[in-house]
Amino acid sequence: MQFEFATAAHIVFRSGAADELPKIAREFGRRALVVTGRNQDRVTRLTRRFKGAGLSCALFSAAGEPTLETIRKGVQEARQGCELVIGFGGGSAIDTAKAIAALTTNSGEPLDYLEVIGRGQPLENAPLPFIAVPTTAGTGAEVTRNAVLGSPEHGIKASLRSALLLAKVALIDPELTFDLPPDITANTGLDTLTQLIEPYVSVKANVFTDQFCREGLGRVAQSLTKAYRQGHDHAARESMSFASLLSGLALANAGLGVVHGFAAPLGGMLHDAPHGGLCAAILPHAMAVNIRALRHRGNNHPALERYREAARILTGDPHAEAEYGAAWVSVLCTRMDVPPLRTYGLERDQIPALLDKAAKANSMKGNPVQLKTDELAEVASLAF
Ligand SMILES: [Zn+2]
Repeated sequence: MQFEFATAAHIVFRSGAADELPKIAREFGRRALVVTGRNQDRVTRLTRRFKGAGLSCALFSAAGEPTLETIRKGVQEARQGCELVIGFGGGSAIDTAKAIAALTTNSGEPLDYLEVIGRGQPLENAPLPFIAVPTTAGTGAEVTRNAVLGSPEHGIKASLRSALLLAKVALIDPELTFDLPPDITANTGLDTLTQLIEPYVSVKANVFTDQFCREGLGRVAQSLTKAYRQGHDHAARESMSFASLLSGLALANAGLGVVHGFAAPLGGMLHDAPHGGLCAAILPHAMAVNIRALRHRGNNHPALERYREAARILTGDPHAEAEYGAAWVSVLCTRMDVPPLRTYGLERDQIPALLDKAAKANSMKGNPVQLKTDELAEVASLAF
């Protein structure tokens, strides 16, 4: 048995925990850059209380998924005297904040440090202290050590990755997710599900992350449909927030697979497509093709047993075979009206370029079986 595990320095998980943000933030400095998504109402309600805690702040709105340009602007803003960075929002706001915190204290420019399209240099200086406050139950970005950034000119997304990116505090308040509309609940929840299945069958899975995946899969099975149908079901929302955290802990330490291998380049090609929606469109097909490939390659591959266990947790049927898990996920996606990839603007003639980029994606390295080009093409065309 062997594993390494790294996560946020401090995790606070509690309904109402957002009220404690001013006090917690003040421990790291007097002036904070607060990075939010499109919806600023909630954060202004919160930052009004910063003053009482002796904290001032600058708001930085990061509409949509972060690009290199957004990060450059945020860094300029943070360099005006900010001593810490708070990401308050979905995965995009959190990743934006994470990257700004890192690049504010490091010279040069984002591409110097970016994987794949950049020079991939290691960060030299410790980032500004960074606090992550997720308002969706989805990406687990509050505990991951990478920020996914888009570069429109390269038409791709790539990661800034370093153990230094881990948050000082991950503050998870399930109440922040109560008002999410059903489509965002579905997309983010299915991203969570993907991020529990892929690390569980990953070549980098370990006994520690396995526990998170099993617990998280059970919670998604029990709670995602409830949270989708009745947004104010407290227990279901809390369970999904926890599952999302577990998915972040798992993926940051055990890697991902073919679904995220596709989602990264797709996110770069289709600018406004939500990450979770892309994962959801691909997940059931990727599971089916992976399982079939594992059976064809023979030798009772250990990942098949993983898929079987996942199927049993998800369906509640102790005799479920691996394929039933994929079928269960497919039904779940249909019930939540998950649209296919073409609804996000993908054209059929973009598929060859997509396959090429997906095969090289970092996440693909965790996939339990090396898929052949025709198998990748099958996943893409089923999800199309
Ligand atoms: Zn994801």
